[in-house]
Amino acid sequence: MSDLSTSLQKINTELSGTSCRLVAVSKTKPNSAIQEAYDLGQRVFGENKVQELITKQEELPNDIEWHYIGHLQTNKVKYIAPFISMIHAVDSLKLLKEINKRAKSSDRVIDCLFQIHIAQEETKFGLDESGLLEIINNETFKSMENIRMRGVMGMATNTDNQNQVRAEFQHLKAIFDKVATEFQAPNIDFKEISMGMSGDYQLAIEEGSTLIRLGSVVFGARNYA
Ligand SMILES: *Cc1c(COP(=O)(O)O)cnc(C)c1O
Repeated sequence: MSDLSTSLQKINTELSGTSCRLVAVSKTKPNSAIQEAYDLGQRVFGENKVQELITKQEELPNDIEWHYIGHLQTNKVKYIAPFISMIHAVDSLKLLKEINKRAKSSDRVIDCLFQIHIAQEETKFGLDESGLLEIINNETFKSMENIRMRGVMGMATNTDNQNQVRAEFQHLKAIFDKVATEFQAPNIDFKEISMGMSGDYQLAIEEGSTLIRLGSVVFGARNYA
């Protein structure tokens, strides 16, 4: 058995009996590796560069569910809007307006997640709870018919301190629960919590993740990115 088939089998065993699914993060990996995972039954793949994603999407099977997991620039939304299954890292109303507009042009409704900043590390990406509430209470947001907000996404601090990582995942879950129970809108249908990467996915599953985004434990270490 190949390394890839061994690792996919191990992860799928860990996922069986949970409501969590695997997003196989294939960034920097060649089409041959994605095709091999596809042939083993994997259908959901995650990428974080627009150009790389559109090249792969053109060359690989049509029933792949592509998830965009990186920071998305507004001017690039148009390239992925015709086919993208889910956009994980939405952190501004400006970006949502563009996604809504391009989804409408493609006659689609695009599933999106709000990226929430849960880690201690400084980064310019991700909303805090008040920023999230500001968007979902915004009248323009409420009128957007071609997006569907499916939940939240977050990245825990890169640390060996498991208690800290667990607390950050719990924080993300608490924000998810609050919106899921307190907010009703046609474009809000919270079902997904995207949390957990190669180093922390077991904790994420324990804390209620529904989408783990795994790259290196599936495909092996990356040379870059
Ligand atoms: C690269 C990446 C991953 C996967 O990272 P691994 O540690 O290789 O599992 C997950 N999420 C995001 C947003 C990424 O950019």
